[in-house]
Amino acid sequence: MNSINKKQVSLDDFEIIRLLGKGEYGKVLLVQKKDTNELFALKILKKKVIQEKKQIQHTLSERSVLQKTKHPYIVHLHYAFRTKDKLYMALEYCSGGELYYHLSKFKRFSEDRARFYSACIVLALKYLHSLNIIYRDLKPENIVIDALGYPKITDFGLSKENISSIDVTRTVCGTPEYIAPEIILRQGHGHSADWWSLGCIIYEMLVGLPPFYVEDRREVYKRIIQSRVKFPQAINSVAVDLINKLLIKDPRMRLGADGGEEVMAHPWFQDIDWEELEQKNINPPFVPDINNPKEPVFFSEDFSHSPIGESPNIATSPGCGQTFQGFSYNGSGNSAVMDLDI
Ligand code: AMP
Repeated sequence: MNSINKKQVSLDDFEIIRLLGKGEYGKVLLVQKKDTNELFALKILKKKVIQEKKQIQHTLSERSVLQKTKHPYIVHLHYAFRTKDKLYMALEYCSGGELYYHLSKFKRFSEDRARFYSACIVLALKYLHSLNIIYRDLKPENIVIDALGYPKITDFGLSKENISSIDVTRTVCGTPEYIAPEIILRQGHGHSADWWSLGCIIYEMLVGLPPFYVEDRREVYKRIIQSRVKFPQAINSVAVDLINKLLIKDPRMRLGADGGEEVMAHPWFQDIDWEELEQKNINPPFVPDINNPKEPVFFSEDFSHSPIGESPNIATSPGCGQTFQGFSYNGSGNSAVMDLDI
């Protein structure tokens, strides 16, 4: 009975403020809920595109993983709803923008700042792995900073719950620099693939470029599979040791293969109080300076003038409604919502 009593949220409940970013299959808008004035990042996907690009399973998995997870360093899903043509996910808004934005601006971070972000991500990955979820798409574009300066993982479009294989072709279209060798070689992959990507990100935060970076994508893949990573002299040898252990090509030998505790126990993290960090009791090294949360400053200016109007429903391919059944969600209570195209 509960399943149809809950109020279904729709686009009419939100005022659209501006475009925040674009993903591979949709866009993300900054919106304000009219009754509570809360801000959300509204991720919008076109069903037709999702179907054409064979991303139905990935999309349903993203929605399901987001509902399942509750962690300080993972974006929280508040609402999900669908119309005839589109899927909507209202996520906690992280006004500090992408980690990528800050890395591009500062080139590299201080060791303390890199360590803080890395430690938060270690906790998020360990939590996901405990739920048997592999994230598989860790990169600076998919880590957003909240208003207090804490990092959070967003974009679960590639995360694996029950999906049998990663879409390497999709990764080829996107950013290949962070992908583990066993994924490229299609050898089967598990949790260790996420620890590899973490190694790439720690390297990038300290050095300024991903470890296997080169313009030619095929060369990137070749380097990931074959090359040893090189470090500038200035990098602390304890950090070098950690990165080298996270970038061991054999996933069974990689640090983290026997659980996230292995990564947490590495000397580079020795000053981290993991329990305090889990409680968000450790002050972030950088707090975004935000006067007006409705005026995003840490997002690409390219999007600030883009048209944001949401088009009304237009013709949809047959069968869409059935395909995305179960998508709707209202996180403000316990019961399910009426799950219909609205
Ligand atoms: P995605 O399609 O999930 O990769 O998101 C595209 C872009 O939208 C990201 O790269 C971020 O710039 C932005 N974005 C996604 N989720 C959030 C969020 N929860 N808060 C703020 N910005 C976000």
